[in-house]
Amino acid sequence: MFNSLSDRLTATFKNLKGKGRLTEADVDATVREIRRALLDADVAVPVVREFTAAVKERALGLEVSEALNPGQQVVKIVNEELQNILGGQTRRIRMAKSGPTIIMLAGLQGAGKTTLAGKLGKWLKGQGHRPLLVASDLQRPNAVTQLKVVGERAGVPVFAPHPGTTSEFDDPTGDPVQVARDGVAQARARLHDVVIVDTAGRLGIDEALMAQARDIRDAVQPDEVLFVIDAMVGQDAVNTAQAFNEGVDFTGVVLSKLDGDARGGAALSVASVTGKPIMFASTGENVDDFEQFHPDRMASRILD
Ligand code: GDP
Repeated sequence: MFNSLSDRLTATFKNLKGKGRLTEADVDATVREIRRALLDADVAVPVVREFTAAVKERALGLEVSEALNPGQQVVKIVNEELQNILGGQTRRIRMAKSGPTIIMLAGLQGAGKTTLAGKLGKWLKGQGHRPLLVASDLQRPNAVTQLKVVGERAGVPVFAPHPGTTSEFDDPTGDPVQVARDGVAQARARLHDVVIVDTAGRLGIDEALMAQARDIRDAVQPDEVLFVIDAMVGQDAVNTAQAFNEGVDFTGVVLSKLDGDARGGAALSVASVTGKPIMFASTGENVDDFEQFHPDRMASRILD
C-alpha cells in the first residue's frame, strides 16, 4: 500500500533536496507534482486542496534555516502536513475510569471487523488486559462461529448467543442489542476489563444497519466506537466514512487490509474528512497482523 504514492513523492523531492534557493516557480512546480501524486493515489479532492494550500503557504514563507536547506525544509513541511491529515498525534484507546472499557466495532460487511476483534483482543491481552469478545453480528450467517474461531486463535473468550435461540446469559431473543448488553453484563460478572463488541455490517450503507448500530451503541455506551474501513475500496471509503460518522459518530478509525497493493489514498483521506483519528492498522489475515497507527511514522514511511 502507498508504494506508488511514496515513489512519486520521493521522485518529486529528489531535485529539490540539493537546492540552495527556492524560487516561487520551484515551489509551484513542486506543489503541482504533489497535487498530481495525491490525486493519482485517490486522496479525496478537498483533502488534496487543503494539503497543497498549506504546503504552498508554508514553503513560500520559509525563513532561511542554518540546519536545513530550503529543499529539505519543504520535505519537512510536507511530512508535517501529511502527519496532520493522518490525524496528528498517535491516539490511544481511552480506557474507562471504572468498569470495563467498551469498544464497539462498526463498518461495512467484509471490512475486517470480526478479524479485527481477534487482533485487538490479542493485542490488549498482551498488554495485560482481560478482554471479552461479544458477538453482536447476528445478520451474517456464520458471523458468530467466525468470531468464536477468531477468539480461539487469539486466546480470548467470546460471549455469543447459542445457535438458534439462547445466549449463554439466558437471553433467548437473538437480538443483537440484547446480546451486547448481556455481553457487557457477563464481562462485569467475570471481571473482564475490556469488552469488544462486533456488530453487523451490510454490503452497502443502509438505514436499518445504521439504526441497529446506534441502538447497540446507546445500549452499551461504548468508550470507543471504531469504524473499520477496507483500505482497498478506493474513493468509496470517504463516502462510507462520512455515512458512518453521521450514523454512529465513531471515535476512531481502523484501516484494514493495508497489506494490499491498492493506491490507498482514499483511506488516507478518512481522518481528514471526518475529523476522527486513525488508531489502528490491520495488515493481513493473521491475528498478529495488526499495529497501532502512528501518523508520524506513516508520514515518514510514505516520504521515505
Ligand atoms: P467483517 O465482515 O467486517 O467482519 O470482515 P471479516 O473480518 O470477516 O473480514 C473479511 C475478509 O477480509 C476475511 O476474509 C478476512 O480474512 C479478510 N481480512 C480482514 N482483515 C484483513 C487484512 O488486514 N488484510 C487482508 N489481506 N485481509 C483481511
